[in-house]
Amino acid sequence: MTNSIPMPGKHIVIAKDALQTLFSTLQAANYTLVGPTVREEAIVYEEIGQMDDLPVGWTDEQGPGTYRLEEAGDGRYFNYVVGPHSWKKFLYPPKLTLFSAQQNGDGVEFTANKESPQYAFIGVRGCELAAIAIQDRIFLEGQVTDPHYKKRRERAFILAVNCTQPGETCFCVSMQTGPKVKNGFDLSLTELDESFLLEIGSELGGEMLADCDWRPAGSYELNQSRQLMLDAEMRMGRSLDTADLPEILLDNLDHPRWDEVAERCLSCMNCTLVCPTCFCSDVQDVSDLTGGKTERVRVWDSCFNPDFSHVHGGNLRPNIRARYRQWLTHKLASWEAQFGTLGCVGCGRCITWCPVGIDLTEEAAAIRGGQS
Ligand code: SF4
Ligand code: SF4
Repeated sequence: MTNSIPMPGKHIVIAKDALQTLFSTLQAANYTLVGPTVREEAIVYEEIGQMDDLPVGWTDEQGPGTYRLEEAGDGRYFNYVVGPHSWKKFLYPPKLTLFSAQQNGDGVEFTANKESPQYAFIGVRGCELAAIAIQDRIFLEGQVTDPHYKKRRERAFILAVNCTQPGETCFCVSMQTGPKVKNGFDLSLTELDESFLLEIGSELGGEMLADCDWRPAGSYELNQSRQLMLDAEMRMGRSLDTADLPEILLDNLDHPRWDEVAERCLSCMNCTLVCPTCFCSDVQDVSDLTGGKTERVRVWDSCFNPDFSHVHGGNLRPNIRARYRQWLTHKLASWEAQFGTLGCVGCGRCITWCPVGIDLTEEAAAIRGGQS
């Protein structure tokens, strides 16, 4: 074992408890650790302090409209499927005060939001890295950029995890986003039986391992990791045929399937709130009771909210059929013309957390199957 600084591209092995040393180094470098932890019978992303806060020995079972936390008792740290939270909760918070205005004598004093948290994201899956890359294009690469997202994104450290536990609602293989992480990380980790295999993705990633004991990975660990990825691919719960999908969906805007799904959909917005790529928002002015102070607040919104498409003179999408069709055709069709890729990374959250179990892979297949 050595504790020099490993270079980008290198694969190394650390003992499992050495992850705590990495956490301590990140904390000493002023990172706030955010990672998976068990809260209210689900594995969610929250601030964590140490390795023991990870969902060690826990896993989950998911299906359309169902999620159940289960005790696996296997001592593994990353043996779960993605839960209801995604990293957009930290990069693009559900509620963010943009600025406040305070009455001050005869004038008004404005204070802009200058928050600039420095997060280390622990346990980012391949599909989630792809979702962050999609939101980067939305918030950082258009004509108008989002300064709040930019500050958070530029300061974020990413410890990715190769996914060995796909769920019944996952289809990252179809979307080519997983189960192995590809790029965009500082470190990526594969959990082996007795150790962690780490790939160094950036110089910063290597530097954060300066206090860890490590050794170069051997062919045994590399082969074991490859096999775990192949097994995960084979156990993918769902698939989505994306060939010509944008054209097929946009050529079938009057397909009867839109009426059928509208009969089931509650327009509850869950699918858009759990989706790691959805980005619609509203801006509201909120005054205190004395009227002396006002805050301008940005909150997540959704194309399933009837108010979202209410414009002068009426509503552009007056019924659930129109709102579901907008959501699905944006994700799997018009997003491509807008941002260069589809807007779905195959994480399966919208299927698991839909209260009536609507499955976008089934809806897309039905329209493909019944196209004229
Ligand atoms: S549309 Fe559904 S499966 Fe696709 S990224 Fe969003 S939540 Fe995940
Ligand atoms: S598809 Fe499901 S989660 Fe989405 S709005 Fe309809 S009922 Fe809610």
